[in-house]
Amino acid sequence: MARAVIALGSNLGDRAGHLHRAVESLKCLPGTRVLAVSSFIETAPVDVPPAYQDLSFLNGALILETALEPEALLDELNRLEAEAGRVRAERNGPRPLDLDIILYEGVRVQSARLTLPHPRAHLRDFVLRPLAELGISREGVCCNRLPEKR
Ligand code: ADP
Ligand code: MG
Repeated sequence: MARAVIALGSNLGDRAGHLHRAVESLKCLPGTRVLAVSSFIETAPVDVPPAYQDLSFLNGALILETALEPEALLDELNRLEAEAGRVRAERNGPRPLDLDIILYEGVRVQSARLTLPHPRAHLRDFVLRPLAELGISREGVCCNRLPEKR
């Protein structure tokens, strides 16, 4: 089992509903337990095309423990995004659900599909604020380190 940190975001449709359903779905993944969930916060859009500047985000984060390998976990996250109705039509376009792996304990990887720790998380306040609530600092993200288990 390894612990991993997931960032959640939504700027389309029933944002809170999408995030709450994602948390419930993550609890049901095989060999997976959700250990802690942050509150969801309203954040201003970052790096989105001008046409979507009015769509603010709801963001949160959670820590889970899983037997899934990183790539298999990403497969599941992509499936949940698709089930929420996400269509990847446009780069940084509006999305009902975005699920990113911020870090996965003990794993550093850079492939076409997956970079760990997440390469931009430490630059993004909308990720760092929910992480801070879970006791994870910017340095923790960069160093691929989670707080001791309580
Ligand atoms: P973003 O999350 O940056 O807003 P997307 O959700 O569209 O954008 O993801 C873009 C690509 O990032 C996806 O094709 C995905 O495979 C890749 N990716 C690389 N590393 C990660 C990671 N740690 N977590 C989630 N997706 C990742
Ligand atoms: Mg993403």
